Amino acid sequence: MEEKRKIIFSQETDEDQVYSISLRPSKIDDFVGQKDVINNLLVSIKAAKQRKEPIEHVLFSGPPGLGKTTLANIVAQEMGARITITSGPAIERAGDLIGILTSLEVGDVLFIDEIHRLSKVVEEFLYPAMESFKIDFVVDKGPYAKTINFNLKPFTLIGATTRSGLLASPLRDRFGIFHHLEFYAPEELTAIVTKSAQKLNVAISPDAALEIAQRSRGTPRIANRLLRRVRDYVQVKSSEKKVEKSIVIEAMKTLRIDEIGLDDIDRRLMEAMHRIYKGGPVGIETLAATLNEEVDTLVDVIEPYLLKIGFLKRTQRGRELSPAAVQHIGAKKGDNVLF
Ligand code: ADP
Repeated sequence: MEEKRKIIFSQETDEDQVYSISLRPSKIDDFVGQKDVINNLLVSIKAAKQRKEPIEHVLFSGPPGLGKTTLANIVAQEMGARITITSGPAIERAGDLIGILTSLEVGDVLFIDEIHRLSKVVEEFLYPAMESFKIDFVVDKGPYAKTINFNLKPFTLIGATTRSGLLASPLRDRFGIFHHLEFYAPEELTAIVTKSAQKLNVAISPDAALEIAQRSRGTPRIANRLLRRVRDYVQVKSSEKKVEKSIVIEAMKTLRIDEIGLDDIDRRLMEAMHRIYKGGPVGIETLAATLNEEVDTLVDVIEPYLLKIGFLKRTQRGRELSPAAVQHIGAKKGDNVLF
């Protein structure tokens, strides 16, 4: 189960990390989709360069796997800046940040992934650093305690979050540039799969690339992962050298991913809502307990795509299942997983 779930999970796995460097577009021109975000970023980058200043702090929000880290790297690259990468949970104490911040040179980019998971103390420590490139820290304890003010070099903080709603407003307000990333259209994902196949040296037909794209939940990371699974499948199970649509369909069957990209966990969720809670509304905590999943996993990873395709609705009283979702699981009756 664990292995299978990783397929459509948009969170990064160890294998993704290995491939993310080789498959990640490094130039803004190679970045597919998100046209409005890219156009706005190009203006911000150009303006900052003309003024010979670092670009303002940038916040990217959106579900996992849509390209927030990739964009942070691209911004640094376009600005000709170095990038330091860390994440909210990795910075446990304000002390962890002092070393990072004081080593930044003019124009460097500091990328903090999952910035909504910074502790309150660390977050507050960041405020003056972001606003006026200053930090205050206390050395020694008791009567010998001294506050030291330290001037930082002007840098750019790029934050990424799956849930901008969880960010405290003083932190949110300190970002001059804010972009929300949307799920990708199938044509965009087809372009991504085609480019990745070239990089991986995999021959793939256009309709096979589209078939993978349509099962990728609007998410480039999943598209690349499915492509790698299909590549394995072709290598082991097929006499063909080229990936054709029929092979993609066979491979997806073994991974239990249906034609719109949903897998066992999505189906379990929809079945539970339909059979146990009569379509809802049902609270997310109750659902998480029923499915034995973390609330965060449901909210960050599973439900955004189901909301996007109209299978779920979020209401004040909880989540509701749509008739389209009921029809979808009805069509899959022979394929029941849990309930
Ligand atoms: P996030 O930080 O939002 O979780 P990433 O930036 O790590 O997502 O993207 C996941 C993977 O998807 C990257 O390694 C990259 O290969 C691919 N990717 C993301 N966005 C794009 C895009 N717009 N064009 C091409 N590949 C992309």
